[in-house]
Amino acid sequence: MNPALSVKSLFVSYHGNEALKNVSFSIEQGKLVGIIGPNGAGKSTLLKALLNLIPKDNGEVQIYGKSFNELRKSVAYVPQRSNIDWDFPITVLDTVLLGTYPKLGLFKRPKKSEKEWALQCLQRVGIAEFSKRQIGELSGGQQQRVFLARALAQESEMLFLDEPFVGIDVSSEETIITILKELKNSGKTILVVHHDLSKVSDYFDQLVLLNKELIGFGDINQVLNAEVLAKAYSGEFSFLDKLGVKV
Ligand code: ADP
Ligand code: MG
Repeated sequence: MNPALSVKSLFVSYHGNEALKNVSFSIEQGKLVGIIGPNGAGKSTLLKALLNLIPKDNGEVQIYGKSFNELRKSVAYVPQRSNIDWDFPITVLDTVLLGTYPKLGLFKRPKKSEKEWALQCLQRVGIAEFSKRQIGELSGGQQQRVFLARALAQESEMLFLDEPFVGIDVSSEETIITILKELKNSGKTILVVHHDLSKVSDYFDQLVLLNKELIGFGDINQVLNAEVLAKAYSGEFSFLDKLGVKV
């Protein structure tokens, strides 16, 4: 069977500066995968390039052996919270309803059944009571839950989340990771950009360790060793100290 996601020889640059160099890996269906690496390593760039939100200089991305464009509706994306305009005037429920649009098709307005579905998704993330609020009136953790609910509403096969745990409360983090594990157990494939190394072995099955190039890829214990981490985080040894890794 084809892997859920395969990335071959991906190169991305911004105005001639290389952000990703020759990145290749493939992920089986039903894995919860962490993308880790220091600031500026190209983690967000990787997700955006996979999603065709930015141009690639080179590389091929396939989902279940098909081109990304053919199956783009089957991928939900939760961008970095800092990149979302939280002043945009939209309610929590309408934000989640946006998740139903790809299936609904162009020019069709959501009906009662879509609204009920959006509410169920809000219930699952534990914030149905805030459905009528403006998104700007929520805490960081609640905002992140709204975007997860939107991704759930999309009923996608694959989820990409960019730093979902940054700036949120502990209980939101627990709710989100629990839902991600449930989704994985139901066969969804999930990529999460994450920078807090201390929790990676609780959270993920596999890691993609990036620093412009692919430094490591595989099961947690293959990637979380001193040699590989030192290569990725050279100059950032405080990270390794936290993990108790000697370099
Ligand atoms: P990460 O998410 O790992 O912190 P990014 O993917 O955001 O890293 O960025 C990778 C590199 O590309 C960084 O050096 C960053 O400054 C640069 N970069 C990211 N986005 C842009 C952009 N829109 N224009 C120019 N350079 C960018
Ligand atoms: Mg980033």
